[in-house]
Amino acid sequence: MNNFSGIYFHIPFCPKKCLYCDFFSVTKFSKTAPDEYGDALLNELESRFNELSGTKVVSIYFGGGSPSVMSEKFYRKFAESVSKLGIDLAETEFTVEVNPADIDESWMKNLKNCGVNRISFGVQAFDDAVLAEAGRRTTVADMQKNIPLFAKYFDNISCDFIYGLGKNREINQELTKVFELAPFKHLSAYSYSRPERKNAPELLSEEETLEQEKAIRGFLQKRGFSRYEISNYSLAGFESRHNMLYWTYGSWLGIGAGAASFIRKTGVSSRYADDIKAFVSGDGLSSWKLTLREKIEEFLLMGLRVKIGININDFKELFGEDFFELVSEKAVSDLVSEGFLEIDEKNGILKCTEKGSDFLNAVLLKLFDAIMC
Ligand code: SF4
Repeated sequence: MNNFSGIYFHIPFCPKKCLYCDFFSVTKFSKTAPDEYGDALLNELESRFNELSGTKVVSIYFGGGSPSVMSEKFYRKFAESVSKLGIDLAETEFTVEVNPADIDESWMKNLKNCGVNRISFGVQAFDDAVLAEAGRRTTVADMQKNIPLFAKYFDNISCDFIYGLGKNREINQELTKVFELAPFKHLSAYSYSRPERKNAPELLSEEETLEQEKAIRGFLQKRGFSRYEISNYSLAGFESRHNMLYWTYGSWLGIGAGAASFIRKTGVSSRYADDIKAFVSGDGLSSWKLTLREKIEEFLLMGLRVKIGININDFKELFGEDFFELVSEKAVSDLVSEGFLEIDEKNGILKCTEKGSDFLNAVLLKLFDAIMC
């Protein structure tokens, strides 16, 4: 079992709230707020970094919110701080989520100089009518102007794309145009789930949603992308390390208002309140220890999302008992004979079939019922 870890930083500022979004972020903030918040992130990193002792940090990820509102100076200070902590950025996958509406060439060059080696663009759609319906402040013109700039400097580029929203979309055409802007290596395809907000876009019918999803899958498969996780596609070798940590039961430290952490060796989860003021004044963090059942649920929930599945031989090391001492063998073999799961006993691998991935929630409910502790 690997002992990898990652650090996630949440940047909870967005100049405008997208209508489909349920992440924690604020739209009203002073000019100095991002820098003050950035200093708090660095202090908190320094005081909590020892929670990752005994692990190797393989990923740093800035998500949001909009990490592209943070100043060049902040990223420089950040790079200095992490090298003082002994993290070798050249060995680390260092991702920053970027809104194509925010940046210019100087900001991008600075990121490169600070050791960032992976960019994740919030594209979501490539049609101004759909972007407007979604309440995005980004336009097709912003993407056409800024994404090719990044492609000159970064090799590892990903994009987020949303489906289940926007009627009569020409997904194939949208993606063709997106891929003309840069040689993307990774794509996260998110199924829209309507937030509790009056003016949130309408959710498409299940049939239309499936059609859009199928179009995305088909487009990417033709370009040699593999669906390595339920919602994530990549070329070989470009799977997101950050995501893989979540799905392979690694440890991660989440820093920033609204961010969550999980440390495998102690089984402790923690979360900061959705409150920027509290975070900046060093408050708002709560922690709790997961029960054995919760840890097993998490292990199954995350591990069965990925194509490689879970290694049940790791179970004893993680939870003190063999897999079938804690999960009913009969329930697992029923799911295997119904075509939802596949088991490779020689190598100890349990994974979802394509049918199992399509009905993952039902499979997980059955497995959760089969946990015997
Ligand atoms: S930019 Fe991202 S985090 Fe901000 S409101 Fe839009 S979707 Fe949400």
